[in-house]
Amino acid sequence: MSQSTSAPAGLPRGRFFLPGPTEVHPDVLQAQTRPMISHRGAGINALMKELQEGLEVAFCTKRPVFIGTNSATGFMEAGVRNAGRTRILSLVNGAFSKRFADIALSCGFEVDVIEVPWGEAHDPDQVADKLGKGSYDAVTMAHSETSTSVLNDVRALAAAAAPFEDTLVLVDSVSGFGGAELRPDAWGLDWLLTGSQKSFALPPGLAFGVASEKMMERAAVAPQRGYYFDLMQYAAGHEKAQSPSTPALSVMFSLQVQLKRMQAETMEKRWARHTAMAERTWAWVEANEAAGLSLLAPEGYRSPCVTAITVADGESGPKIVKGMAEKGWVIGGGYGKLKPSSFRIGHMGDHTLDELNELLDVLTEVVS
Ligand SMILES: *Cc1c(COP(=O)(O)O)cnc(C)c1O
Repeated sequence: MSQSTSAPAGLPRGRFFLPGPTEVHPDVLQAQTRPMISHRGAGINALMKELQEGLEVAFCTKRPVFIGTNSATGFMEAGVRNAGRTRILSLVNGAFSKRFADIALSCGFEVDVIEVPWGEAHDPDQVADKLGKGSYDAVTMAHSETSTSVLNDVRALAAAAAPFEDTLVLVDSVSGFGGAELRPDAWGLDWLLTGSQKSFALPPGLAFGVASEKMMERAAVAPQRGYYFDLMQYAAGHEKAQSPSTPALSVMFSLQVQLKRMQAETMEKRWARHTAMAERTWAWVEANEAAGLSLLAPEGYRSPCVTAITVADGESGPKIVKGMAEKGWVIGGGYGKLKPSSFRIGHMGDHTLDELNELLDVLTEVVS
């Protein structure tokens, strides 16, 4: 039987709009059934070389792209462990950027925070001002803050940090990568990390990280880099076209297929497809103002990958998610403290405008 569904049992394709994990294309899912190979044999070298070539194109980088067998949170920890010596500045504007600060604290660093209300973006001038007043080893931030759907201008934030040469710029682009334009080399990002299961549209299980030369120089002397997330080990593995320990081979087989699909589409067209889906969603929210709906993120700072929608009564978010589920569609609930007052649509990965239009038609019935 070749009945391909990439949604939960019973759901046809094109109905799973969770903001992570997102729907996985059947060809990509299927690749995971390949038999195992030795992770120290010739087969892995050929596979790793092919993956590296594709990853460098996808990440717009000439640097190695490290592959970790861990969820993205692990590579957030890798970032602070390899960049930190004593003090870190964390930019917090939602649940995931707060997690970055919590990780830095629990790894034993002093952490200062610039927090703006959930739903707002960070101001580069304010960040430059703060960096000028302290001595920070690194500044952490989220690109696409999945809890609020705010897109921070990481290019401008990195530019604001650039005069502070000892401060490394660590960027979580877990939902952003693959849907929002991202150029780590050109934008001066010292550690860019993402996971497999958001706009990358792979099954969960892998994380990806790009470290600048400056980041690797810091890693070489970082006192807290530990063992599992030691970037020096990743770099040594990269030289041998291997990974430091047994990688999630099955997800790497799916990555091999997905990179080919991404190359066929091109990153520019992938970003444009995400922007078109986001704009369609924003227009739909504006057309449903009478139903009490509004966009949480302000104009100019909206993620192309996910949209958080606020309900006027402050409590019917979960009811809307449930209403969709009853009709056979999956959308995301509000995240953390935004659970009652919002819901989220993950228009990311391999979704199409046609699929999104169908979703919005059903959603119109549910909200009205
Ligand atoms: C999902 C997400 C994470 C956490 O990723 P895991 O793979 O669950 O560890 C971190 N940051 C952002 C912005 C996310 O969307």
